[in-house]
Amino acid sequence: MSLHAELHRHLGGAVVPRVFWRYLHRSCHPLAEAYPEYEGFEAFITRPRASLEEYLELHSLVEVVQRPDTLAYFVSKLVRGAFVFESVVYMELRHTPFLRTDPTEPMARRIDAMRPIVDTIAAAGDQPEYPLVFSQILCMHSRLPFEVNRAIVDLAASMPRAVCGIDLAGPDHLYAERLEEFISLFRHAQELGLKTTGHLYETPQGCYAELLPYLDRIGHGIQIPLLYPELLPAIAERRQCLEICPTTYLKTGTLASLEPLRSVFDRCERAGVDIVLCTDNAGLHNVRLPFEFENLLTLDIIDFRQLQACQDAAFRHAFAWPYRQPARHLLRERAGTGGG
Ligand SMILES: [Zn+2]
Repeated sequence: MSLHAELHRHLGGAVVPRVFWRYLHRSCHPLAEAYPEYEGFEAFITRPRASLEEYLELHSLVEVVQRPDTLAYFVSKLVRGAFVFESVVYMELRHTPFLRTDPTEPMARRIDAMRPIVDTIAAAGDQPEYPLVFSQILCMHSRLPFEVNRAIVDLAASMPRAVCGIDLAGPDHLYAERLEEFISLFRHAQELGLKTTGHLYETPQGCYAELLPYLDRIGHGIQIPLLYPELLPAIAERRQCLEICPTTYLKTGTLASLEPLRSVFDRCERAGVDIVLCTDNAGLHNVRLPFEFENLLTLDIIDFRQLQACQDAAFRHAFAWPYRQPARHLLRERAGTGGG
């Protein structure tokens, strides 16, 4: 039995299409009319998009439905599903809390409304019958103003029991004009003791070496081994890992096939850079974490040794896993057959 740690999953993309579709129908949402049958809705949600930007529009669709009164419903369902169907025993769920607040309210009110959002998600993630270790990563967003992103960092630091780190998300070509700003925000986060990750080197337009030194982990980062392998020694030196989410690259059109990931794994292994496999948007893709592994095995992109290395690395690079050992080793110790 494999036990997984999921380090990169977005709240907006984590709800499986059937739960989402049922919710739309039950709440008589306008989208329900457009998709009276589930099959049509699933096809719409999971079809590949032409670009990262178009793909991210799908998140906007989900975000407007995920509001304070519905969040507990969605989070409790996705935690249950991850524990029961994916053997996920550790999950960092990431989201931009500002995007779950009421857009008709003034900015200051929306900033104040972020804390209860994080509280609601923490409470919904804590389910004794599905006891995975659950934490949140709060995402700064490339479309949000500095003031809001700064408030997101401060909020993350003030809620250490619920939040384990911060991220930078949103269209990555927008980072270019604001690099100094994002560097200052990551610096601020580190001064507050926060762990950091960021969507970087996912697409050829999202490669900003200036941001790399401020990250504990790199969200995606596949363009580093593919286009800038000379950066790998420094990545290894800083003990950063790449959070690789294979299905995403097909859905965003970043890769035409998963074949290039073979070089990604080979080059990282040779350089001593850890890779962790994640889903990004397990719901919207309708691809769960065990299948991301199985898929790469079937395609002969990784072997079982690499599979276990990725699984163990996920626990080592987790921001809030409470044990020194990955889950696999803890199980073995408990069975009395190893470790000690
Ligand atoms: Zn992501």
